[in-house]
Amino acid sequence: ARTALARSQKLEAVGKLTGGVVHDFNNILHIISANVQLMLRSGNNAEKRLRNILDAVERGSKLSAQLLAFARRQPLHPSVVNVGDLLERMDSLLQRAAGESIAIELARRDGLWNTLVDPNQLENVILNLVINARDAMEGAGKVSITLGNLDAASIAALADPEIDPGEYVLIAVSDTGEGMPPEVIERAFEPFFTTKPEGKGTGLGLSMAHGFVKQSGGHIRIASVPGEGTTISIYLPRHTGAAGTAPPA
Ligand code: ADP
Repeated sequence: ARTALARSQKLEAVGKLTGGVVHDFNNILHIISANVQLMLRSGNNAEKRLRNILDAVERGSKLSAQLLAFARRQPLHPSVVNVGDLLERMDSLLQRAAGESIAIELARRDGLWNTLVDPNQLENVILNLVINARDAMEGAGKVSITLGNLDAASIAALADPEIDPGEYVLIAVSDTGEGMPPEVIERAFEPFFTTKPEGKGTGLGLSMAHGFVKQSGGHIRIASVPGEGTTISIYLPRHTGAAGTAPPA
């Protein structure tokens, strides 16, 4: 019954995917063709039209990249990852995604444990979290990324029955944005759930993050205060084996 349920949920997700995506893509194509037609007709406002076209093309490619990542969720290619090194490598990428008026602070401790995850997917997930933080802050604010080791005692102290006992590496991404009301938190991991204006959000970012973290044997949590900000915490299991690629657990 479990696999039948999983299968039907998957089919439902695919159905929603097709509908939602076809709709978004049509809108994007419409913007491109309308702007090209206007340029052909008038020759005026060329720069503004070109900007609109470029904007639509960028939205289209972002959407297709997310869709591909969604469709290709499996298989993961895990390797031994130090999240501190990974985050440091992403520094300029994250700063560019956040924009100039948003400061990104990385708090990294020495002696961070390793974890066994697909580094490319983890990068995607973190980039999505930073983009969400940016979108929640309307221009100015701060994103703090905190990395740390959580031993078995601190995991037990969390008293979260769904987090397996054990040792984890924590990646917490906090923003000083608008926050999320409880009804948004409740649905945030659903594929295609978005509160963003049409064409801006795909509703796939957090659902992909959730899928990736679960497949990696970890956990993801949202803590948010409307008007103050949001923290997304990702717990990835500690890996004590030797470096190098390894098959999924
Ligand atoms: P998308 O960003 O395309 O809308 P996500 O799955 O990444 O899709 O996020 C779903 C929804 O969760 C967003 O539309 C937004 O309402 C909410 N959300 C996610 N991250 C944040 C955040 N850092 N601050 C406030 N709301 C957020």
